[in-house]
Amino acid sequence: SFGEDEGGEDDLERRPPVVTVMGHVDHGKTRLLDSIRSAKVGEAEAGGITQHIGAYQVTSEVDGVDRTLTFIDTPGHEAFTAMRARGAKSTDIAVIVVAADDGVMPQTVEAINHAQAAEVPIVVAVNKIDKESAQPDKIRGQMTEYGLVPEEYGGDTMFVDISAKQGLNIDSLLEAIVLTADASLDLRANPDMDAQGVAIEAHLDRGRGPVATVLIQRGTLRVGDSIVAGDAYGRVRRMVDEHGDDVTEASPSRPVQVIGLTSVCGAGDTLMVVEEDRTARQIADRRNARKRNALAARSRR
Ligand code: GDP
Repeated sequence: SFGEDEGGEDDLERRPPVVTVMGHVDHGKTRLLDSIRSAKVGEAEAGGITQHIGAYQVTSEVDGVDRTLTFIDTPGHEAFTAMRARGAKSTDIAVIVVAADDGVMPQTVEAINHAQAAEVPIVVAVNKIDKESAQPDKIRGQMTEYGLVPEEYGGDTMFVDISAKQGLNIDSLLEAIVLTADASLDLRANPDMDAQGVAIEAHLDRGRGPVATVLIQRGTLRVGDSIVAGDAYGRVRRMVDEHGDDVTEASPSRPVQVIGLTSVCGAGDTLMVVEEDRTARQIADRRNARKRNALAARSRR
């Protein structure tokens, strides 16, 4: 494929972990993502309401050091599954949310299976501990049956009791994510090369045209770059972050809205930078033709 070499050890720099929140419906995924965002993104300081672009970054102090984390802001595992199906591994860590008053449910098990199949380390957020009926210890026992043994029971999975509603222990959860990433992953990328990334969502905006939220995976994306994403191509005209602010470049693990594609790409599509507009167009055209041929072949059958 297009995998340009990332270079040697010296070219690699630490990048933030990319985190996906999964779990059973109503266990608090959306609330948790909102809670982390409002606690950490600092809506007031950013001068307004943050934009939902499909992902956001937060910074949290862990062991006296400011650490950045990227959250995929589409709860549920649809996005995760779509991206995995296309082989674009976009998540480093999975947070599995389990409501302490409800326990392990079918989609909890599904989430565990997804994460384990993708070999993504798991942090368990035991949510709704503000509820009188909460039984956090029972959750720990249940999760052990799926191979997730809490550290306090001698295992290696971090469990954090939280209340997404009350904003309780959010910092501890962020710390657990960072510590899990540090312990089990080598998260580095070369920022000094043409960017590659994955589209986590895309849509047609009335005013701005095709808009794609792209998670940069290696290299740095810059305004003016010629790009291909799936069978869409174009040139980066603008990039906008989760505060709605324009940015001129985006480095590894950074999510940005990219404006300038001539059509809407698909979620899970890989984005890459090419030398010239002409090349971008040729690649996109070839992919389009291949897609049309495949469709025609299917309809002949
Ligand atoms: P999702 O389907 O997993 O995204 O769940 P939501 O975030 O939509 O939450 C489902 C319901 O549980 C909503 O009514 C939330 O307000 C509520 N909820 C979420 N977190 C908490 C919590 O920590 N404590 C309590 N008491 N309720 C919560």
